[in-house]
Amino acid sequence: MKLRFSHSLKEADNIYSLFFVPEKPFVFTAGQYIELTIKHDHPDSRGEKRWFTLSSSPNDKELSITTKITTGSSSFKKALLNLQAGEEISMTGPMGDFVLPKLLQTPLIFVAGGIGITPYNSILRWLSETNEERPIKFIYGVGSEDEIIFQETFDRLKQHVTIVVEHPSASWGGERGRLNAELILGLTQPEQNSLIYVSGPEIMVETLEKDLKKLGIKPGQLVLDFFPNYLSI
Ligand SMILES: Cc1cc2nc3c(=O)[nH]c(=O)nc-3n(C[C@H](O)[C@H](O)[C@H](O)COP(=O)(O)OP(=O)(O)OC[C@H]3O[C@@H](n4cnc5c(N)ncnc54)[C@H](O)[C@@H]3O)c2cc1C
Repeated sequence: MKLRFSHSLKEADNIYSLFFVPEKPFVFTAGQYIELTIKHDHPDSRGEKRWFTLSSSPNDKELSITTKITTGSSSFKKALLNLQAGEEISMTGPMGDFVLPKLLQTPLIFVAGGIGITPYNSILRWLSETNEERPIKFIYGVGSEDEIIFQETFDRLKQHVTIVVEHPSASWGGERGRLNAELILGLTQPEQNSLIYVSGPEIMVETLEKDLKKLGIKPGQLVLDFFPNYLSI
């Protein structure tokens, strides 16, 4: 399917949301991802395709993705940031099962590391628009305060988010440190039927999966979404 680029929004230093109009109505479930293809001159060895979780709500007219782009980024990311309004790219999808469970009363624990916040923006906005209430505890780990994005989504939904900052400024009054399994379980006290969603860089998700299991979380309680090629949050 073709997507027409609409506009970009700088969410924080080096973090951008890119908005697209699909050529025909596009149905997806909050938490799913797509694959984008951007034809561009002199692609580097990583090529012209990437997967991105949709950060927009399924109700939005425009689709959005949210990603980190720096001066050292791949040719794909630079081509993404250079898109002009009206320019067309292609996508496939939606794909993925990082979506809400059917049972409304299942206790949910959402854990995001850095850019791994993207699926939760979609899920939380969709929940608020449909007035669906779910028991959610939410932990969001970032490297520093200036990497926090989508705060307005959490505020609008009155969704409490515990933000854990790895390298906080002296004035940071919240949780400090690196996301780890003990911290997550201590802050959220999961029940036997809780589902723990974890989204973020591959290495973070793999480590948390291993450590949460060691601390007694059953494999069936974990719903994982990992982003390759991010070395840290
Ligand atoms: C299911 C799924 C969902 C995803 N959702 C998202 C999402 O919502 N948002 C998101 O940002 N990503 C998401 N990703 C990851 C995304 O597909 C990219 O892999 C990721 O954004 C990194 O992009 P990049 O390879 O262009 O690297 P960049 O972002 O450009 O760079 C990442 C790191 O690699 C280094 N690097 C850059 N170019 C090279 C090179 N040629 N060789 C070696 N190192 C290099 C950079 O210095 C940087 O440290 C998702 C992946 C999956 C599988």
